[in-house]
This record gives sequence, C-alpha cells and structure tokens, in this order.
Amino acid sequence: MSGIYLHIPFCETKCIYCDFYSVTGDTLREKFITSLLNEIKLSSDELKNKKFDTIFFGGGTPSLLTVSELSQIFNQLFKSLNISSDSEVTIECNPGTVSKQKLYDIKKLPVNRLSFGIQSFSDKELRFLTRIHNSQEAERSVIEAQEAGFSNINIDLISSLPGQTLNTWKYNLEKALSLNIQHISAYTLTYEKGTPLYKMKTTGRIRPESEETESMHYRFTSDFLTDSGFEHYEISNFALPGFRCRHNLKYWNSEEYVGFGPSASSYLNKTRFANVKSITKYIDKISKGEKAVDFMEFIDEKTSLNEYIFLRLRSSGLDFKRFRSKFGFDFRNKFNKPIEELTQKGYAKISENEFKLTISGYSLCDEITVKYFYQ
Ligand code: SF4
Repeated sequence: MSGIYLHIPFCETKCIYCDFYSVTGDTLREKFITSLLNEIKLSSDELKNKKFDTIFFGGGTPSLLTVSELSQIFNQLFKSLNISSDSEVTIECNPGTVSKQKLYDIKKLPVNRLSFGIQSFSDKELRFLTRIHNSQEAERSVIEAQEAGFSNINIDLISSLPGQTLNTWKYNLEKALSLNIQHISAYTLTYEKGTPLYKMKTTGRIRPESEETESMHYRFTSDFLTDSGFEHYEISNFALPGFRCRHNLKYWNSEEYVGFGPSASSYLNKTRFANVKSITKYIDKISKGEKAVDFMEFIDEKTSLNEYIFLRLRSSGLDFKRFRSKFGFDFRNKFNKPIEELTQKGYAKISENEFKLTISGYSLCDEITVKYFYQ
C-alpha cells in the first residue's frame, strides 16, 4: 500500500525558522484548488494499479482551507484513486486557524488524525518563533479537537530555542502530556539557510544553544516520554502503542508515496520526483495539462541501499531478515566491523534479529550512516 501527500502552500505569515514552501495571502487560492483537483484527476490513469492507505495534508497550513475546499479534495481523491476504507487521514492544523465549529466540521470529513503545529506552550517562545497563536489557543484547540471526537492527535514541539532551559522544555513536555494526546514530534530547532532565523544567527543577534545543551534536551525528551509510556520510534517521534504515524512510516520504511501540490515529492516505481516549488508555475503547468514535476531521479540499487540503511537507523532499527530479502545479502556479514565498533562505543545495540541505534547513536545518525555504511 502507498501513501498520498498533499502540499497546501498557504500560511497566514511566515515563521522565522521555516523553510517549507508556502506563500502568504490567498489571491491564488481558487486557482490552486482547481489545479490540485486537476493534478489528482490527471494522475488517476498512471496510479490505477496502486492502492493507498494513508493521506496526509501538510504544508503550509492545510487548516486554512475551508471545509468545502477540503471536501472537494476528498471527493476528487476518492473518485480518482484506489483508497482503502481504513486509511489513516491526517491534517496538519495551526492552532491559530481552527475554531471549535471548524473542528466539528472537519470531523465529518474522512479525517481521523490531527497534527497540531504547537511548537511551544510558552508565550515568550511562541513570540520568538513568530507563531500566530498563543499558548492558550494551543491548549484550547487540542481540547476542542478532542471534544469534536478526535482521538488520534499529534503535537509538534521544538526544543533548544536560544535561552531555553531544561525546566522550560520540561514544562512544554508536561503540558503536552497533560492534554492526553497520542503522539509527539519533538524537533530540535534548526537554522536553515535562507530563513530569517539563520540570518539572526549569522549576524550575531541570537546565540544558538550549544550541541551539549541540544543533546541534553534530546536525551531528557526521550527518557521523559518513554517513562510516560511513549515509544521512541524515530529520531524525533514518540507515540503511544498503536499510534505511530502510518503515513510517515512509509517514508522511513522506503515505501511508495505520491505527492500533489507545489514542492510535493513522490517515490514511485523506484523513481523519486518533486513538483516545482512555485505556486504560479504549478498552476500554469497543470492548466496546460502538463505535469508539474521539475526534478526526477532514478533510485539505483546503491542509492536504495544507502537510503534504506539511513532510514532504518533513524527509525526503529534494521531487521536482518527484511534486509536480506530486500537486498539479497546479510547485513551482519557485510558490515561486521562497523557493527562491532558502534556497539562497543555505545552508539548501537545488536540483537538476534536487528541492529538499532541507541539514544547517543540517534544524535549522530547522519554522521554514523555516512562514515560507516555509505557505499
Ligand atoms: S505555519 Fe508552518 S509551514 Fe507556515 S511558515 Fe509557520 S512553520 Fe512554516
């Protein structure tokens, strides 16, 4: 089964740290919806042999769409593609953009999972991140979603903001847990090139936290959430048993997915491709009946092996049997030296069936993969 990703490229304002593709203002909104519906329709022939069991609305801010716009998208998806009736269907919500009534209306759609971009429960931190919501709205939106009947909710949080202490970070985690949600994505603040935050760093207006502090926050998060019953199933992701994000698991398991909307990527038939990162070019191409793809790469055996190892190490570990059936050789034989070195250094654990990074290894996942496993 494959996944469907829809990129909704609108935001009320741009947050200083964000490098996802989105635009402010909604003058192109109507044309975008028409294009998105057409893109889905155009793909139906090509995707007729694929079956889908996850749908993920990301962005941007999908919760800016009206319920009627969301309904049109669902109608087109179900008309054009073969979608399983027990699909996981997630919408990313910005707490500043959803009223109680809207959450009730969204519940009537085929949506069964919400992902709230809360980032922090501290007003000071939210102002720093230039988010449009405050902590009260964040809390209220989760409670109202639960009242509307949602019982599979994720909260995104960001740690290691400049000046954030372990106590204030702990407060964020405690607040999230007090809301009885099922999933937490806890990211470390990153300074992406081209963002205002990156400029603030390079011009000395802010001083990022040290790697030691980031690592301390990271370890604390893992211990705190696993002690509270959450499974740490990917570097930044924690879920109560039975609530892992099925859509994101497709990325981490190297499974297929199709993306619609500007900048959306797809991985189908051993090929990765991405749509153009411009809403105007996207609308223009689709209106001419063309594909909006502007990047395409065939994933050969070597790339597939490298990616598979990287994705398995950054998530819940590499299963030896599955590895052998996918690549035709034994992982332990091929990588016996790195396995020995990494386990001795405490960066990884090996059992009869799998090889897995420890918390210390997770923090160095990129470096470890490149140094020890890249072919
Ligand atoms: S709301 Fe989300 S997608 Fe939009 S700018 Fe902020 S972080 Fe980026």
